[in-house]
Amino acid sequence: MKKDHSHTFTCINGHVFQKSSDCRSCPQCAEMSKKTFFLPTLSAPAQRALQQKGIHELRQLSEWSAQEILQWHGVGPSAIAKIHDALTAEGLSLKTTKA
Ligand SMILES: [Zn+2]
Repeated sequence: MKKDHSHTFTCINGHVFQKSSDCRSCPQCAEMSKKTFFLPTLSAPAQRALQQKGIHELRQLSEWSAQEILQWHGVGPSAIAKIHDALTAEGLSLKTTKA
């Protein structure tokens, strides 16, 4: 059995791309989100998670707590730290969970 070194994937936005690794992130979408996303420092999976939640601006993130955001697929502690820093820079903060 001969194994191909690259695989063809189609992303949710219909871009066809080839990757030799198991990483299926679409380079075209990554490029687009770099240009348009309000938090370009966030990793692509974290950006997608935010977009899937309908979050398009920093202010919307202040309606969520860190604990809630951490449960979104693709969002890890490093993303939370970046979100937190960005909010703080704007004078905003994440929602604090009720004790
Ligand atoms: Zn794509």
